[in-house]
Amino acid sequence: MSDSPSPHAALPTYDDVAAAADRIRGHARRTPVLTSRLVDAQLGAQVFFKAEPFQRVGAFKFRGAFHTLARLNPRQRRAGVLAYSSGNHAQAVALAAQLLEIPATILMPHDAPAAKVAATEGYGAAVVRFDRYTEDREELGRELAAREGRTVIPPYDHPDIVAGQGTAVKELLEEVGELDALFVPLGGGGLLSGSLLAARALAPDCHIYGVEPEAGDDARRSLAEDRIVHIATPRTIADGAQTQHLGELTFAILRRERPTILTASDAELVAAMRTLATYLKVVVEPTGALGFAAARARPDELAGRRVGVVLSGGNVDPERFGALLAG
Ligand SMILES: *Cc1c(COP(=O)(O)O)cnc(C)c1O
Repeated sequence: MSDSPSPHAALPTYDDVAAAADRIRGHARRTPVLTSRLVDAQLGAQVFFKAEPFQRVGAFKFRGAFHTLARLNPRQRRAGVLAYSSGNHAQAVALAAQLLEIPATILMPHDAPAAKVAATEGYGAAVVRFDRYTEDREELGRELAAREGRTVIPPYDHPDIVAGQGTAVKELLEEVGELDALFVPLGGGGLLSGSLLAARALAPDCHIYGVEPEAGDDARRSLAEDRIVHIATPRTIADGAQTQHLGELTFAILRRERPTILTASDAELVAAMRTLATYLKVVVEPTGALGFAAARARPDELAGRRVGVVLSGGNVDPERFGALLAG
């Protein structure tokens, strides 16, 4: 059964992550690794936070976007790019395009956070809005791109995106050495796939957890059922992980690497955001707190361990951040 030829004979490898690291050097930031003795005491573990709120555009997505755009040929660069995104991928493509002098059009949902829309337009991209509950952004994106000859830059299901996202965990492991466990936020699976490639090469014994919103546990179900499960757009405060399904490429990597998939509820995300603000003094958006929310819920499993947590982004309007923590 499993020896039928794979449609992904050439899945990206750790070498691709290493090549991506070379290509983004000097363009993406090498983000800090944060620690807190109080968090360590609470969890009874040693926790290393890779702080992607300090990445350019405030999230890891700049890594994959810059890497992918830097690999376009001159003809593709002239015709421009198009991306559809709930926010961080949009900002990442917009900034990468501006830096590389490539025209960019971004499709954004009607209810995307104001700060994300403003930032995307601020980078010089043309923003087109759509209704995320009634319109299929992929279809809309393909139509628009075909009309203008633009290259679609998908948010996660692309080997160059996956390789670029893997550079965050590569940096983390190079800085702190081997880990026993690693917690990674999970939407469409680009970050988790890249993290798996980096961790399997640099920390082969590390147990890797992908954490998705409780309201949208399609990845957990996809691995359990061995097929890409599609769901309706989940209603969760984790707006960066409101994906309806894994990609073919990310599913193929997850299926091979078998990470443990966990979920976190909105209440757990808020509690994690509060702890991160209090002890680490860092603003983390709800999606960015998925990994830590799941780690906090497992002190027994993690006792005495060296634990990595990817804080994937920090883009949340200050008013919304305040309201979430107050609520
Ligand atoms: C996009 C995003 C994710 C999910 O990444 P995938 O590659 O889609 O799994 C997690 N956190 C933040 C902050 C994001 O912007």
